Amino acid sequence: MQLKTILNRVLRHSAFVYVTEQLVQTQAGATLQVQLRARANSRPRCSGCGRLGPGYDTLAQRRFEFVPLWGIAVFFLYAPRRVNCVRCGVRVEALPWAVGKHRLTTAYAWFLARWAKRLSWKEVAEVFHTSWDNVFRAVEMAVDWGREHRDLSAISAIGVDEVQWQRGHRYLTLVYQIDTHCKRLLWVGKERKLKTLLGFFRWFGQERSAALKFVCSDMWKPYLRVIAKKAGQAVHVLDRFHIMSHLSKAIDEVRAAEVKALRAGGYEPVLKDSRWLLLKRPENLSEKQEIRLAELLQYNLKSVRAYLLKEDFQFFWGYRSWYWAGQFLERWCKRTMRSRLEPMKKVARMLRAHRPLILNWFRAKGAISSGIVEGFNNKAKLSIRKAYGFRSFHTMEIALFHTLGALPEPEGTHRFC
Ligand SMILES: [Zn+2]
Repeated sequence: MQLKTILNRVLRHSAFVYVTEQLVQTQAGATLQVQLRARANSRPRCSGCGRLGPGYDTLAQRRFEFVPLWGIAVFFLYAPRRVNCVRCGVRVEALPWAVGKHRLTTAYAWFLARWAKRLSWKEVAEVFHTSWDNVFRAVEMAVDWGREHRDLSAISAIGVDEVQWQRGHRYLTLVYQIDTHCKRLLWVGKERKLKTLLGFFRWFGQERSAALKFVCSDMWKPYLRVIAKKAGQAVHVLDRFHIMSHLSKAIDEVRAAEVKALRAGGYEPVLKDSRWLLLKRPENLSEKQEIRLAELLQYNLKSVRAYLLKEDFQFFWGYRSWYWAGQFLERWCKRTMRSRLEPMKKVARMLRAHRPLILNWFRAKGAISSGIVEGFNNKAKLSIRKAYGFRSFHTMEIALFHTLGALPEPEGTHRFC
């Protein structure tokens, strides 16, 4: 069977024909080169407006990379014609297997983009003997297409989160859809300032913003202000993940200070290697860690008291009624304010200041998927770690949308995967 026969089966074009095929040995290895030409008497299609027009001239032959066969690179060779279009002037003709100036065929670009969801970009380039640039361009194409074709209707709950992406406190603001029926990354912004999130709402539009029912975010002041202004009708929830991470940070501070003080006083290092014992949830500890934690809890240490306050706070999330949850919150804050643990007191003050938004958690229960922001946060951090070395914001944005955007794909892209 000839390659032409297979190509006619999988990728047939009405206006172009596969003419010859050739196995060419180059320095980089063997390549299969497939020559194409326009069907006799066919007129070229303008790449500007998509209409057929009279031919103008023919350009030099170009190579388009296609999906490799048995590890052999496959190239389409074709000399594009130019159209003398009545609307657009002289233009290069539109080709059904590639878009614009792309040197990858559309089929191959989707093929690489799909693999790039499973492997890192570097690995995809290695496995398919192509360049990192080609993989990036393929993913970029897939993301651009997906963002253009995604459905942005019926979004009722969003979560706003920030992740660090470069050394030196550089942040990205990520906005997710967190409806129970659809969870995905919607938007990425540079920094985490007032104007960052304003940028989201500008893009999102007034109509969609007015339809929001729930917004979930951290207690970060610029976010609070923008959300109150742009989606004031939505129930604004301060989410569990962020509140608990503030408490964990406070414990860390108490512990670090105490370790220092104990060491200065010449005491036994009881707190040595205790960080994870105090930060992990008890049910996630190993048996050995459990025993160590039990030992540690016998000491009347500041770190232990901070830990117990945090664990006590977990009960808060189990309440059904916001009224009783509110009572609990007040008791907890009172107790913490008497604890003489400054970092914990700071959290208590913060919780008191945002009491209504925290209690909104109970009004939103069931309507948004709790824990979803935390899940996305972990995945985003993983993408950023994997993409280590991506200097530019654009590359990072493409990577995040590719893994978290749940973007649509055109039909038939699975064919070669
Ligand atoms: Zn035209």
